[in-house]
Amino acid sequence: MELSEIISFSKKNGFVFPSSEIYGGFSSCYDFGPLGVELKRNIKNYWWQKMFQRNNMAGLDSAILMNPAVWQASGHLTSGFADELVECKKCHHRFRKDHIKGECPDCKGKLTSPQQFNLMMKTFVGPVEDKTAQTFLRAETCQGIYLNFQNVLQSTRKKVPFGIAQIGKSFRNEITPKNFIFRTREFEQMEMQWFCHPKEAEKFFDFWLQQRLDWYKELGIKDLRTVEIPEKERAHYAKKQVDIEYKFPFGWKELEGIHYRGDWDLSNHAKHSKKDLRYHDQERKEKYFPHIIETSVGVERLFFTILCSSLKEVEGGRSEKSKKEKEIVLKINKKLAPFKAAVFPLVKNKDKVVKKAKEVFQLLNNFSVYYDETGSIGKRYRRADQVGVFWTITIDFDSLEDNTVTIRNRDTMEQKRVKIKDLKECFTKEFLLTD
Ligand code: ATP
Repeated sequence: MELSEIISFSKKNGFVFPSSEIYGGFSSCYDFGPLGVELKRNIKNYWWQKMFQRNNMAGLDSAILMNPAVWQASGHLTSGFADELVECKKCHHRFRKDHIKGECPDCKGKLTSPQQFNLMMKTFVGPVEDKTAQTFLRAETCQGIYLNFQNVLQSTRKKVPFGIAQIGKSFRNEITPKNFIFRTREFEQMEMQWFCHPKEAEKFFDFWLQQRLDWYKELGIKDLRTVEIPEKERAHYAKKQVDIEYKFPFGWKELEGIHYRGDWDLSNHAKHSKKDLRYHDQERKEKYFPHIIETSVGVERLFFTILCSSLKEVEGGRSEKSKKEKEIVLKINKKLAPFKAAVFPLVKNKDKVVKKAKEVFQLLNNFSVYYDETGSIGKRYRRADQVGVFWTITIDFDSLEDNTVTIRNRDTMEQKRVKIKDLKECFTKEFLLTD
């Protein structure tokens, strides 16, 4: 699907709305609507569970605002976190120098020579707005993890190798945010930092890269490739970097970054804070800065990837009444689907059928399910398919006699009769996040 179609699909169906829309929108900011918020939550829950499963992992939720010294130590306030900015002398639009190939100004004006532009967003803490009160909105969630490395060690008694996972907001004053929710100034990251002995870093880099690729496969995302980033293009902290790229409607772009950060973070924070952040390895009888492997993906970028890879146009229609129409089906992984099922009474003017359908809906209220009795059954199927509902459950006259319902599968459109008393168990088996 084209980008413009994905954007209008997202708005029409309550996935993504432009922020502050009635005031003309705001600076590449977006709001997530009723279905978007469900999808986002499912993505985060699935990532969280997947990371913890079989892995030696601890969780964290650190503050967005931190002592500004953190950003000095991390290298974000120096050129480490700046993009090169060029300005068109004619139309005064600003561009990232490394993006300029695809974005040469339409007016064909001459460009200024590049200037460093720091992406950290400034703010003030407290009533006085001067330099001493200035701090920054975090540009990546992982710094909170490094600062709490010793706290986590002491409170959990974990031993290296282990990981710390965190999901949270990050902010970057991107020069050219664009392509819908691909690049925004406010976004959420799902980051995992794996602390290991330096000699094991290469092995764990490969392990985590494979784990992440396997997860995307499980989600049904195809069109992925890995790209090893050469030294001069790598982030300032990275000793090795492999980007997992997806083929977006505007070309191959980074979805997730796997970084070998060495001891850059812990050793710099130790130097600046004058605290000993080394790990005392009892088994090896060594004291050292653990090396870090990071996996980092943006929630919204993955959300967008999932929409791009799941939205399908089916020619000729799928339901009886719409044989000639084009239908949209969101063939999303069932575990991520905003709604797992929809409950339909076959007819809406028959009290007993409606009553039974509402009872079934109540029975399933622990799952993400909606009830719909408006319009023809064909229309209700189409509406459900469009937003990725995996099962549609129909209650008909037979249901009144034998307490069974018809379950229709979104992808195969196969229908089967199931006893109402078995429904909860079927749901638990089908939609359990990890098994
Ligand atoms: P890019 O080259 O696209 O600017 P990056 O290399 O700076 O990204 P990282 O710092 O490695 O990105 O961030 C890790 C992940 O966080 C990215 O792979 C992406 O999924 C997400 N991310 C980074 N910046 C943004 C943004 N401005 N909007 C949405 N997601 C982002």
